[in-house]
Amino acid sequence: MMLATHAVAGAAAALIVRSNPILGFFVACASHFLLDAIPHWDYPIRSLEHDPKTLRGIRISFDRLFVKDFFRAGVDASIGAALSFAIIRPADGYTALIASLGIIGGMIPDFLQLVYYALKREPFISIQRFHSWTHSDIRLYGTHNIVGIGSQIVLMLLISFSMFNLAT
Ligand SMILES: [Zn+2]
Repeated sequence: MMLATHAVAGAAAALIVRSNPILGFFVACASHFLLDAIPHWDYPIRSLEHDPKTLRGIRISFDRLFVKDFFRAGVDASIGAALSFAIIRPADGYTALIASLGIIGGMIPDFLQLVYYALKREPFISIQRFHSWTHSDIRLYGTHNIVGIGSQIVLMLLISFSMFNLAT
């Protein structure tokens, strides 16, 4: 799922338990796995290569494609962070902190996948195994791109709308 969707959902999740920032961070992490379980569209990560020796038979190559992927993920994440802050409009530093922890918590599982691909050691192997297990096997790639991107935007708007209700 797009990082932007995870960021908005994470911020919303953290706001639900706004009295406890640490709990907020972990609830945001949990929201990531919950969202990934929904059949969804993902943009392809082209620096991923097939390697039968690893989980799901995939490993990452740190080359020019990786730089492209990294840039796209950065834009994706920035959209999520900007959207979250635009909706919440934190009135004070504390709310800004909760939102930030939620945004980071919502996206961090995907960053941990990158760490897994780079290091291939515990605890990242177990986290990766859990992530793969929660992730929907239905992937809306290829010819379903319009449906995929469309459904992703609808989902993001739905989450944004519910977040607006939580934040106000
Ligand atoms: Zn994920």
